[in-house]
Amino acid sequence: MNFCNKIIASKSQYAEIADHKCHCIKGHTGKCNEFPFLEHLKATAPSVANKIKRDATMTTGAAWKSEDAGPNRILRWVMMLDDDELLKYGLDMSKLKPGVIAKLREKAADYDSCILVAAKLTWLVYQMENAPTPPQDIKFYLEDLFGEMKPGSTLCVICRLPLNFKLFELAARGKAAIETCHKNPRMHNADNVGFGHRECNIAQGNKSLDEFYSWIEGIIERVNSKS
Ligand SMILES: [Zn+2]
Ligand SMILES: [Zn+2]
Repeated sequence: MNFCNKIIASKSQYAEIADHKCHCIKGHTGKCNEFPFLEHLKATAPSVANKIKRDATMTTGAAWKSEDAGPNRILRWVMMLDDDELLKYGLDMSKLKPGVIAKLREKAADYDSCILVAAKLTWLVYQMENAPTPPQDIKFYLEDLFGEMKPGSTLCVICRLPLNFKLFELAARGKAAIETCHKNPRMHNADNVGFGHRECNIAQGNKSLDEFYSWIEGIIERVNSKS
């Protein structure tokens, strides 16, 4: 698919780092739109649409307070700049703890990858059990990017059980029961992202899926050999 790619004016202080672009189909009628594939979810499930946009484009937030804890959430493509350039935006990486720097840096991703991540997450949401049905134009758009959509086919990336759209509503203390997951936690692109249960994502931690499964396998083997 070819996107329109017209530049959309932005008031963001980071606008000069990456232009915000229109991702409607090239030659479209009507207004340009950065996230046209989210329009229906924005109307039917705004918190899910916001979550997709946030998780796709921003580094993960933390309840950080101190100066050396770093920014709470920042655009992933801003984290691709080197330390000197970040200083111009008032971000002094030298003040942060090494662990925080590493975490921020591994969440970096370019603008185009983030947009495709958002589209992929939208494609996955529509295939969850009890998800709303996408309008034809959005279905066509997402299937052109990622292939045919099968209702009820989206599984937890980690435990492989089906995911239910209603889990988005089950928020305990502001934490959703479904989280955006990475098969390899250090890569943010459309092939590597999916959704998972919060508890599965926590269990996986900073391991890649392969590392996580062999770790679990080892545990199960040891447990079974002693019983
Ligand atoms: Zn456009
Ligand atoms: Zn799971």
